[in-house]
Amino acid sequence: MILVMRPEASHEQIEHVIKTVEELGFTPHVSRGETRTIVGVIGDETKPQTQNFAAIPGVEQVLAIQKPFKLASREFSKQDSAVYVGKVKIGQGSLAMIAGPCAVESYEVMDAVGKYVKAGGANILRGGAFKPRTSPYAFQGMGEDGLKILRDVGQKYGMPVVTEVMDPRQVDLVVRYADMLQIGARNMQNFDLLKECGKTKTPVLLKRGMSATVKDLLMSAEYVLAEGNKDVVLVERGVRSFEDSTRNMLDLSAVPNVKGQSHLPIIVDPSHATGRPDLIPAMCRASVAAGADGVHVEVHNCPEKALSDGPQALLPHQFLDLMGDLRRLAGALDRQFWAPSEN
Ligand code: PEP
Ligand code: MN
Repeated sequence: MILVMRPEASHEQIEHVIKTVEELGFTPHVSRGETRTIVGVIGDETKPQTQNFAAIPGVEQVLAIQKPFKLASREFSKQDSAVYVGKVKIGQGSLAMIAGPCAVESYEVMDAVGKYVKAGGANILRGGAFKPRTSPYAFQGMGEDGLKILRDVGQKYGMPVVTEVMDPRQVDLVVRYADMLQIGARNMQNFDLLKECGKTKTPVLLKRGMSATVKDLLMSAEYVLAEGNKDVVLVERGVRSFEDSTRNMLDLSAVPNVKGQSHLPIIVDPSHATGRPDLIPAMCRASVAAGADGVHVEVHNCPEKALSDGPQALLPHQFLDLMGDLRRLAGALDRQFWAPSEN
């Protein structure tokens, strides 16, 4: 449930509410808005003590949240949330362009791709060091060596970095190198991993599972939020369908669907959704038009030699053209891709 504080509630009253909620055996999650503060209360709502919440000084209203996800819900925050990855703002009109190779393969490839995507206007660099491959014989990623390369190249070009973490036991290691933790589609319901990432202060990029509903995605986000990490960005990356001419089926309606139900930013990954460079630019444009808070694409300087997902990688010049179109489109919609010079 949600305790809506009066606009004039004092700092002491808010602190008193937080303390009282804790004393009654619930967990408070505070959201300080521009005009008023609200306190999300997580715990057993059938407890009789919940009836006393309305009597705490400074509380204006007690609202039950009907949705199974609470902290992720629109009820918890009417205002869209923004998530900062380093200095890069995602949400509230500020768009992310997350780009890079599928996997970190070598310093040389990472450096070449990093240079190109930076020049094109990417603001976050990606690259997997731990790869969830369908085949155990396929390239599994460079591990910690890959994390170091990614961090070094990110620093060289002034971009924060995002990389996938596949196992709760890897979280301590990955947070030492990454500015954002990616939870991949295959791990969207790895609840121990969600909880472990939720205990960190590092923003989380949570990808929709390949057969997950929008509600499942928001429930998974709730796991991270409930542990205290408020910085979750959702990703629509396509779901399995009967269509076999694309890798997955991009569910673009997930963008406004999520926005109606949640305050969290959502971005779109047309690379994994379509698996086809000829479709990726159009789906990126459609994503921005649909209200996404950014786009995520894979880029490689030599896709034919890539160790994973080569066939879906954009070439550097394709990325450059795409960014030109997306910038114009974003501008027309009163939004912009975050860039260091403007901030
Ligand atoms: C990836 O981003 O390289 C990846 C494996 O994505 P997904 O989890 O969406 O398949
Ligand atoms: Mn990939």
